Amino acid sequence: MADKKADSGSESDSTEEPVVGNVNKFAVVPPGFTGRPKKGHLIFDACFECGNLGRVDYITEFEYDLFIRPDTCNPRFRRVIFNIVNFSKTKSLYREGMSPFVKSTSRPKCPDHRKNYVMSFAFVFDRDDDVYQFSYCYPYSYTRLQNYLDNLEKRNMDFFTRELLCLTVQQRRLDLITITHPDNLYPEETKRIVFLTARVHPGETPASFVCQGFMDFLIGNHPVAKTLREHIVFKIVPMLNPDGVYLGNYRCSLMGFDLNHFFIDLHAHSTLMNGFMYGNTFEDIDRYERQSVFPKLLCGNAEDFSLANTNFNRDAVKAGTGRRTLGGCLDDNSHCYTLEVSFYSYQTSSTGQAMPYTEEGYMKLGRNLARTFIDYYKLAGVVSQKPSSSIVPKPGAYRIRDRNQQDRSETAYDEK
Ligand SMILES: [Zn+2]
Repeated sequence: MADKKADSGSESDSTEEPVVGNVNKFAVVPPGFTGRPKKGHLIFDACFECGNLGRVDYITEFEYDLFIRPDTCNPRFRRVIFNIVNFSKTKSLYREGMSPFVKSTSRPKCPDHRKNYVMSFAFVFDRDDDVYQFSYCYPYSYTRLQNYLDNLEKRNMDFFTRELLCLTVQQRRLDLITITHPDNLYPEETKRIVFLTARVHPGETPASFVCQGFMDFLIGNHPVAKTLREHIVFKIVPMLNPDGVYLGNYRCSLMGFDLNHFFIDLHAHSTLMNGFMYGNTFEDIDRYERQSVFPKLLCGNAEDFSLANTNFNRDAVKAGTGRRTLGGCLDDNSHCYTLEVSFYSYQTSSTGQAMPYTEEGYMKLGRNLARTFIDYYKLAGVVSQKPSSSIVPKPGAYRIRDRNQQDRSETAYDEK
């Protein structure tokens, strides 16, 4: 494909043979415009060796849809380029090999395919009757969350509560999940609270998989989960921005919640790899040190978690995030973090190879996040350092009920 400014009054002097099906010195002008192309109009020409541009649609002066012509004698493998013209970031993991996701009606799972930033990508439609859907990352919709929570609710677990915080402007549910032993809910009980939120930025779907993994672990039969439920009250808002998620927004404004002790806001990062955390900095060295404990413990439990990417800051640009706002108004014993997870991949220190995340990989990070609280609260003396006999499982005595998604290798946790 070649494009160039129209030079009114002079024709190209190309003498090459036009290739059938390619655009041939095609001036793309606004609808209704007649006459010779003017300065500023683009002329597209693909009549050269290897050219394959079959059609150009004018959208606006600054946006064109380009269609690669069908391969000769094989219209089924027509390749189409999509330009996402107003992509929100210049830097992104698409440069590192991430690709958009696509599924089609006969193949509901997402296959792999390539390309990069602007955001333009080429795609081959190979089945006539399929409906194809494209996405930035694994989709996690409002409906998916509602189905997941509906199923949990039906199980009538006494340590699981689902409350409606409010209906949103568009009448969607803003759910608050509480996971803890029912004894902890008596008003006179003073308990440690872990507060976890996700999808304040609606486009960050990996956060939802992490959040689901987190909940799956906490409601499970794993002895660590039972101990955590006994000692800690987990408050979870799995989707802070249901309207934004439903509408397919990428970012939206932030809501704050009043809480105690531990606050983790789940996000997905569009330029960095691995899972990592942001924390706050404090003048108080002790508080700073205390705050760095949890990420270190998480690093020990999750091979995809990166301490190197983790940092504590007070950057002006991060003012207004949940972590910064709450860090400023909660008491000294509270810890506020943002947990970020890459939209694309993680690198482990052992292999050094970038592994693309899967839905299961994100959920595993959530489970590891949940189990890290047992290490933290043991260190903090809230949970007994020495596991009681009820915590130490007999080999093979339990299985993690995680809808068959549990990686068997990690059930060894706490068996040492
Ligand atoms: Zn975010």
